[in-house]
Amino acid sequence: MREVWQLLHDGGICDAVGTVSGSVKSVWLGNNQTTAVRGDRVGRAVNDMNRKRRFRKLWQMGMLGTIALTTILLFLAYSLGPAYIDKRFNPVGIQYPEPVNADAKALHESLAIADLHADSLLWGRDLTQRADFAHVDLPRLIEGNVALQLFAVVTQVPDPLLLEGNRDDSDSLTKLAILQRWPLRTWSSPLERSLYQAKRLQRFAQKAPDQFRILNTQQDLSEYLAQRQTHPAMSAGILSLEGAQVLEGQLDNLDRLYEAGYRVIGLSHFFDNEVADSAHGIGLGGLSDLGRAVIRRMDERGLIIDLAHASPQTIDEVLALTQRPVLASHTGVQGTCENLRNLSDRQLQSIAQNGGIIGIGFWKTAVCGTDVEAIVRAMRYVADRIGVEHVALGSDFDGAVRVPFDVSHLDQITVGLLADGFTETEIQSIMGMNVVRLLRQHLPT
Ligand SMILES: [Zn+2]
Repeated sequence: MREVWQLLHDGGICDAVGTVSGSVKSVWLGNNQTTAVRGDRVGRAVNDMNRKRRFRKLWQMGMLGTIALTTILLFLAYSLGPAYIDKRFNPVGIQYPEPVNADAKALHESLAIADLHADSLLWGRDLTQRADFAHVDLPRLIEGNVALQLFAVVTQVPDPLLLEGNRDDSDSLTKLAILQRWPLRTWSSPLERSLYQAKRLQRFAQKAPDQFRILNTQQDLSEYLAQRQTHPAMSAGILSLEGAQVLEGQLDNLDRLYEAGYRVIGLSHFFDNEVADSAHGIGLGGLSDLGRAVIRRMDERGLIIDLAHASPQTIDEVLALTQRPVLASHTGVQGTCENLRNLSDRQLQSIAQNGGIIGIGFWKTAVCGTDVEAIVRAMRYVADRIGVEHVALGSDFDGAVRVPFDVSHLDQITVGLLADGFTETEIQSIMGMNVVRLLRQHLPT
């Protein structure tokens, strides 16, 4: 008996107790009350033990199931999530645009094309590989005959994102950073995000050295364009920034961004920052004291100012202060599409006097349309008001916008410009030579 009680109290072997308990109980029940009571206790204890055992097994199985399911969901989120989001946020309107006639095709192939704005670094794709969704990668840049692409880096996006009245205290990019497994240091620092994205573009250049390079100086640009005469299956990138919040309030961080390869800096993005107010922010003011110091330092270092997203007052103050031509890298004009983000006729005149260039965007808020005609209409408007030498492409490819086609079908713009009556020389200017001219003179030496 002692052995049986001993067995009962030894939780580790309850299965053995359960097996013998029935016979022990039947023997004892025939003897006396004490034995019967003890028999009942034994039975109840055994049942309790079995119940606990079953519960523990179920709990363990539940935990294992939960861990397995969480692992599968995390695997799916990390492996498929970024591509799913990229695809969803960067659609194209026309999957298979109209075939281009031979003359337009020949003209397009002869151009040195430059686009002032693509957000392709944001989405985690390997840009050396062709994707069948979103807008830009190296194979499609080459297919579209793009000589030069400005790669803009986004470092903070308000949540929710509004066209007007955004505050600066939220950020939907942190989730994307985690999902794409960006380094921990990037999760809360716009500066670290920009340094990380610059490294990513450099890695792509290292991976495809015969097809892609990053340009830092006037000499880089001249050598590259000369080489491209005999090797047209190449493209090049220049790093730009959307929003001077990357400075994190420190003027000296401008030098770190310069060393990382940034050559174009947009002063504000979707919200006001310590440097300048945005067209989409709350204050609608202009430059801060730091902002004025930033402009002077950018001029000294040969960095190019981008006025896209800037508030009207910021635009005025920058144009009054800077000694160098500016870009409005991706925008529309109020003459064809009226909203606060788009440039007024007066601003067009000011940018023309500054010698600057206006990149016309390909998405609806920029041009109030979703087709090539709407894009060409805005280009025509700028050319007629201030001269064709100030017009450029500012697609906003991969900028969480719907565009008519991906970069491989840029020949559709050449066709549209021809149809609108632009001459071949004017088309050369709009499609890239205006940008090449500005960069040849104003990249650092
Ligand atoms: Zn933008």
